[in-house]
Amino acid sequence: MNEYDSELVKSILFNAGYRFADNEEKADIILLNTCSVRDSATRKVFGQIYEFRHELGRRPIIGILGCMATDAKQSLFKNKKLGIDLICGPDSYRRLPEIIQQAQNEIKIADIELSKNENYDGISPIRGSFSGNPSALPQDDFSHPRKVNAWVAITRGCNNFCTFCIVPYARGRERSRSVASILQEIKKLVRDGYPQVTLLGQNVNSYKDGKTDFPLLLDKISQIKGLKRIRFMSPHPKDLSLRLIDLIAERPNICKHVHLPLQSGSSRILKLMNRCYTKNDYLALVDRLRAKCPQVALTTDVIVGFPTEKEKDFKDTLSVIKKVRFDSAFIFKYSPRNGTVAARKFTDDVRPEEKTKRIVFLNELQRQIALEENQKLIGSIQEVLIEERYENGWRGRCDNNKIVSIPDGKYHVGEFIKVEITHASVNGLSGISLASAKPSSD
Ligand code: SF4
Repeated sequence: MNEYDSELVKSILFNAGYRFADNEEKADIILLNTCSVRDSATRKVFGQIYEFRHELGRRPIIGILGCMATDAKQSLFKNKKLGIDLICGPDSYRRLPEIIQQAQNEIKIADIELSKNENYDGISPIRGSFSGNPSALPQDDFSHPRKVNAWVAITRGCNNFCTFCIVPYARGRERSRSVASILQEIKKLVRDGYPQVTLLGQNVNSYKDGKTDFPLLLDKISQIKGLKRIRFMSPHPKDLSLRLIDLIAERPNICKHVHLPLQSGSSRILKLMNRCYTKNDYLALVDRLRAKCPQVALTTDVIVGFPTEKEKDFKDTLSVIKKVRFDSAFIFKYSPRNGTVAARKFTDDVRPEEKTKRIVFLNELQRQIALEENQKLIGSIQEVLIEERYENGWRGRCDNNKIVSIPDGKYHVGEFIKVEITHASVNGLSGISLASAKPSSD
């Protein structure tokens, strides 16, 4: 979501006449789009600003965007060593040119007002990691020469209030974009040459515009001619309906990969987290998904050391990991986020050494499972969308989101090729190209 927001900000600033520097040494204004979901992300931002302030040898305007803007406004301005000039929250980016101007006039300014309806409709993001000056490119080619995936935010904010999570406070309540504007944007992306879109939302599958819910929206998107791959993230297990599962199974251009955040395998902890499902609900959902779509790859997020998590709760998480056999998992140690229910009501009572022990154990188990799951694909033929060139060849992604390396050859970014998988590691696959091939959705 932050990557997408940075693309929106680039577009707003470009249209206001700003141009992009190649690197921070050349920049007059440095904006950091921040995440405060975890404590480590916040600390990283502080370190980065300190470096800019003290190692650049001059004084650029420094601004904070994103979740930290809302979450840590007071401490950011108070910290004189950082010397922050402006703070702009995730719903205030349209005002950014004005805010920058005030900061240039040495007025410290913070706009962190959250909105009930801001969804940045009508702003076309400047896509890709392109950092040069887009004015040098033809208008239509702004979006980056490397057209593979375009992020498309369909909702912003969240109403779920999981007790550990800062998002509803930092990004406000959930709002959905209109069906018409989403379809229009995706049709344009296809015309511009993007083979893949990834639909984004904090709780992407609770999308609602009038009578159109997420399965209906996905149904319409999957019928857009020429759109080869559709991904979405992150769905909440409680909103993964049978209609959605059927659609994933049916449509060749909806990728067979679901990132389904588990958070904990203990029903008691899930209740404290306000996740609205139990361990058995989650396992039943996985069974339903696999019954309809046996080839689906599943990935997840897990938090270890949530307040009151006992050895028994942790064993429940282990048992779900062993049973589901996720293709990969992002595993984090719990850290209290100011303002959340968990930080207010629960004591962070799992000792740091215990959290470390649990995360190490879980990571090791998950790595073993990921390796074994990847090894099962050796000998299979996968359709790979080429994403980038690297020193030893090319890298791309299968429909199931696994990364595949291919030795050097004549390909181009955005091309689909058939690959026979010959090797597997914990983090991905490698193989040899059979021949350039059109994707099966054609
Ligand atoms: S669903 Fe829960 S974890 Fe996800 S953004 Fe919303 S509150 Fe946070």
